[in-house]
Amino acid sequence: MEVSELLKKAANFESLTVAEGVFLYNNAPLTELMYVADGLRKIQVPHGKVTWQIDRNVNTTNVCVANCKFCNFFRIPGHAEAYITEMPVYRKKISETLRYGGDQLLLQGGHHPGLGLEFYTSTFRQIKEEFPTIKLHALGPPEVAHITKLEKSTHREVLMALKEAGMDSLPGAGAEILIDRVRRLISKGKCGAQEWLDIMHEAHKLNITTSATMMFGHVETIEERFEHLVKIREVQSRKPAEAKGFLAFIPWTFQDVDTLLTRIRGVHNLTTADEYIRMIALSRIMLPNVKNIQASWLTVGKQTAQVCLHSGANDFGSIMIEENVVSAAGAPHRFTYKTIQDAIRDAGFEPQLRNQQYEWREIPEMIEEQVVDY
Ligand code: SF4
Repeated sequence: MEVSELLKKAANFESLTVAEGVFLYNNAPLTELMYVADGLRKIQVPHGKVTWQIDRNVNTTNVCVANCKFCNFFRIPGHAEAYITEMPVYRKKISETLRYGGDQLLLQGGHHPGLGLEFYTSTFRQIKEEFPTIKLHALGPPEVAHITKLEKSTHREVLMALKEAGMDSLPGAGAEILIDRVRRLISKGKCGAQEWLDIMHEAHKLNITTSATMMFGHVETIEERFEHLVKIREVQSRKPAEAKGFLAFIPWTFQDVDTLLTRIRGVHNLTTADEYIRMIALSRIMLPNVKNIQASWLTVGKQTAQVCLHSGANDFGSIMIEENVVSAAGAPHRFTYKTIQDAIRDAGFEPQLRNQQYEWREIPEMIEEQVVDY
């Protein structure tokens, strides 16, 4: 194997194997990976702008029985701080989101042992009835798996019911690393790798748009990261021709502050900026069938994310008016609708507001700058 040969294959949009990806990771100079990934981005996203979004992460409940070792957000059933979000809270948060220029809630929560399909469908219906324009980017494969198990139903039936009730798209949450060895160590209570992939494939068959993620920098090997990427690519290659499938891939780093994984197992996130940029470039290279690659400024910070825009990434994600899960494990970075655009311009690109379908939006004329209070 030679770096130059593999980069030539990558530049021609050929699919690299796990071994080839690992070889590039270990042997290719970062500048060469950046150059090739940037070239691919220019072909796949020829408008050259960097897209961003305004939405708000709202949590349906913090009650969870999955017990992920990297999560400081959840509370066990019966805990004094356990909550289920009620309509008055949604009303307040959606009204604020609209004032801040947002068009969507990213709705996620724990695996509550007592909340089945009816809870989610009635919540979605109620929100859509009162706020017909708000989009719901809701749940994720682990929650769909949990609801399916509670209901003794099928993924397809659960997804169809959620879609019918108002779910507009399915986030790629809870992927972590799609290898069961890793999942047993960090998120044993969540669905396994194959079930995560099966749910996404089912969503694609129902023409529900999705995204995919990877949380790395904990107990996984480099090879396992590349197996994860190839699994995402394979599911995308099996989507029906008319379906959008995975609209984006978002790799982000494990946040280790006060997590069980760090306190009990001594696992720290040692990902350097160089390593994150390398993974962004290789994500673009390994996923020729996923158009949008997002840099996770929330976990790696502004400067590293800006370099990623020259390394294959074309999207800066959302300003996240509210975020409680990753932030609870230490992610300290924040943007407003003004500062995210400044950061994109400083990196040499024109910012473009988008929605979850990657369609462009005008920035609303009457927009308030939010007070960052989470
Ligand atoms: S990451 Fe999600 S599934 Fe895991 S413990 Fe936290 S809330 Fe539960």
